[in-house]
This record gives sequence, C-alpha cells and structure tokens, in this order.
Amino acid sequence: MRMLDNYVDGSWTKSKATGTTDVINPATQEILGKVPNGKQTVDDVTAAVAAASAAFKSWSQVPVMKRVQPLYRLKQLLEENAEEIARTITLECGKTLPESRGEIQRAIENVEVACGAPMLMQSEFSENIAGGIDEFMIRQPLGVCACIAPFNFPGMIPFWFLPYAIACGNTFILKPSEKVPLTMTKVFQLIEKIDLPKGVINLVHGGKETVDALLDHPEIKAISFVGSSKIARYIYSRSAANGKRVQAQGGAKNPVVILPDADIDMSVQIITDSVYGCAGQRCLAASNIITVGDDGKIKDALYESAKKRKTGFGLDEEMEMGPVISPESRTRVEALIGESLKEGAKILLDGRKASVNGFEKGNFIRPTILEGLPLDGEIVRTEIFGPVMSLIELKTVEEALDFINSGHYGNMACLFTGSGANARKFRSTANAGNIGINIGVAAPMAQFPFSGWNESFFGDLHGQGRHAIEFFTQTKVVVERWPKEWSRKF
Ligand code: NAD
Repeated sequence: MRMLDNYVDGSWTKSKATGTTDVINPATQEILGKVPNGKQTVDDVTAAVAAASAAFKSWSQVPVMKRVQPLYRLKQLLEENAEEIARTITLECGKTLPESRGEIQRAIENVEVACGAPMLMQSEFSENIAGGIDEFMIRQPLGVCACIAPFNFPGMIPFWFLPYAIACGNTFILKPSEKVPLTMTKVFQLIEKIDLPKGVINLVHGGKETVDALLDHPEIKAISFVGSSKIARYIYSRSAANGKRVQAQGGAKNPVVILPDADIDMSVQIITDSVYGCAGQRCLAASNIITVGDDGKIKDALYESAKKRKTGFGLDEEMEMGPVISPESRTRVEALIGESLKEGAKILLDGRKASVNGFEKGNFIRPTILEGLPLDGEIVRTEIFGPVMSLIELKTVEEALDFINSGHYGNMACLFTGSGANARKFRSTANAGNIGINIGVAAPMAQFPFSGWNESFFGDLHGQGRHAIEFFTQTKVVVERWPKEWSRKF
C-alpha cells in the first residue's frame, strides 16, 4: 500500500519520510493507508512553509470579497461529496454514519460563517479624536498559520480554523491526526478544485516530528491545536516560547446534573446520547452524571437506555455506537473500569470484553455504568474517552456545583431541570466554557466560540466565529492628522 501524499504548493507531493504509520479501521483492523512518519517529515514542513510564505505575499493583498469566493465553491463541493466523506470518517474513525454526517454538516457551517469575513473583519473608526485628527483600527492577516488536529473529528475540527484563516488573508498548513488522515486527504481533493492560488492551503502528514517542526518554524506565526490536555499544554508552551500566537484546546471530563423536576424521559435519552455518542470519544461527551435527590427512577431509566444501545460497525445504519479508535485505547478504557473497582465503585453495566458478530477484531466496548465512585478518587477526574458513565448521587444543587467547580477541566457542564431559577444559577456559577441547559452536548454553533476553560483550553481566543477572526488577524491602529490649512483649493 502506497504512502499518503502531502498537498503542497497546489500539488500532491511525495513525503521525504522513510517511515510510515498504518491507518487502521477500528472495527476490523484492516489497514486503510500508510501515513509518512519520522525525522524526514521535517523537510516536508520546510517545503510547505516555503510555499505558504510565498503565497502569503499576494494572497494577503487579494480583497476580502474575492478571498471568500473559493469558500462558496468549497461549501458546494463539501455538500455534493458529504456522503463519501462521511463514509471515510466512519471507516477510519469508527463512529456511526449519522454521526459522521453530522460532523460534515458542522464543517460546512464553519465555511458559511467564514464567508462573512467581509463584515466580520470590519473595524472601528473614531472621527476627530482631537482637532483634525482621526483614529481607526484595521485588521490584517498574520502570515502562515498551522493547525494540528486530533483523531476524533477528522472532518470537522480543521474547519474551526481553516476557512477563517484564509478568509482573513493568511495561508495555512494542516496536519491531521496520523490515526485518521484519509478524511482530510479526501477534502483536499475538493480544495484542489476551488481555484485557490498555489500554496494558500497545504496538507502535511506525520506525527510528533512534524508537529515539532511546525512549532519551531520561525515563519509560522500562529498555531491552532486540538487534542489532549497534556499535549495542548506542551503545544502552548513551546509555540509561545517561539513567539507564536497559540490556541490549544484540550481534554475534558464533563459533568451533567439532573434534577428531579427535569423531564426525565427526554433527559435520559439526551444524556445517554451524550455519554455514548461517538463511543464516548467526544470532548463534549457527558461523563460524570450527577443525580440530585433521585429516588432511583433516574438511575433505572439511565440503565435501561444504556443497556439497549446497539454497538457495532458504523456503516451499518442500525448501529448507535461504533468502536473506540485503537486496541490500546480499548485496553486503557477497560483498565480504567477495572481501576474504579479498586476505588470502591460498583459496575452497574459492564461493557468490557464486547464482541460483535462479524467484527470480532474490532475495538468494541459496550455501554458501561459505574456507581459509588469516591468524589476524591481519580476516576471521577480522569478523562476516560470511552463509553463509560460515572453515576454520582448528591443531595443538593450546591453540592453538585461544588463538585463541578473542584474539577481541573472546564469544557462543558450541563443541567437538566424544569426550574428557571436553578438553570440561571447553574449557568452563572458552573466553571465551564460551554454550558447546556436541557442540552446534552452543548457544542457551540459555528458563529460562537468553542469556549473551553481551565485545562480544556490554553490560550485566549477559541476556534470558530468572531474569536477565529480575531485570532487570525492582528490589529493595527492608525492615528491620522490632516490639518485644515493643508487643504488645496481647486
Ligand atoms: P492527542 O493529543 O493524542 O493528539 C492530537 C494531535 O497532537 C495529533 O495530531 C498528534 O499527532 C499530535 N501529537 C500527539 N502527541 C504528540 C506529542 N507528544 N508531541 C507533539 N504532537 C503530538 O489527541 P487525540 O487522542 O488525537 O484526540 C483526543 C483528545 O482530544 C481528547 O483528550 C479530547 O478531549 C480532545 N479534544 C478536545 C476538543 C476540544 O475542543 N477541547 C475537541 C476534540 C478533541
């Protein structure tokens, strides 16, 4: 099987790498492709930066109204090819086809919002700040920007950054996760058709060596990262030390509180979708499910809903949950479930050692529910990133908020209730950047920032919407004097 090509300076180019990493279908272990890997990918980065730097000179001077035209064309091509891209996501990432389709829809919405750059980049003007003096601010692009993406949303996450970066006049290098490089390879086959000048958008494959070369290259001005918190912190420190602008979105451990006055049937359905959707491999997956004053009704309903969830091959339209990404990931999640027993938990529903007919080699874990975990233990604070619900019973909303606010992540917190006053208190006091009220996956739409807090985010400006426009532009303030006496008479 041939090694995947990079896309640099408007052409598909061979990597200089001699090593490769296999791209593996997590439901079958079939090898789908080979990604370049190793030291020589540094040369690939050098070539991509040279192309992007050269392209920046003219692309930054193209009027913004013209810069967004290729994005309209990209939107159309993404829509026309959405099904094929969704199938690719499912094959390399494992999630179900409806989940993959939803992901592509979210990517397209970001292209649509970025098409608003002509308005979004507009700035401020103050006339006559002093006699005959005006002051105004303009937004200018930064230069070459790079994005390093995770495995769990191969089709969506690059679009939190890419369309905004180029609409603002920057040039762009994307490094997808080496676990799921095929989706963006497909997307770049569409990008090839949208009449962008050579070098404006580039694709470079690889792992750590490729990332480090991007972080260290002096001509790269900004880094957008999404992945685990440990790597996000590393990316943030190393890029900042190199003088770059950075936005680094990290991991999560999302709490969801359900009060007795919630619509129980609706809430239970939404919460199980949140915990088990994408096999729990979402940064907005609900993980700690906190019931307040439950008489057992909510717990029973969650158990029944989780138990009947169908797990299997994502391309089978009947399935509601696919495998986790790798055998290592499955081993890790199963080990954490085992650890929970040592902490004193009980396994209410055990999804370990799952086997799916016809897909015996797949990395499947069925829905799992843990209960009785100590609040000062490790498991309630560890991102499991698998289909595991930790059920926590508390007595009051205040206790729930104290527990939530003692966590070190801050990606999302949700409340299910019929009470406006509790909802108001929750949204105001919960320490998380994305809040859901009677919502299980509080994923911001493209016009809003993807607002993680604490160890779920390192930086100032998030992906998507106005934050992305601000991230991908630098402000220039001009103070201008034109004395009256200088006016010419004609
Ligand atoms: P990861 O951190 O392992 O990898 C992300 C990227 O970093 C990949 O492109 C990878 O090649 C690169 N990388 C990995 N190790 C590296 C190293 N040592 N040095 C330099 N680069 C390295 O994350 P993942 O497993 O691909 O994705 C899952 C994680 O991403 C979860 O923690 C999840 O919560 C998080 N995530 C967060 C958000 C968010 O918006 N906050 C969204 C999606 C995923």
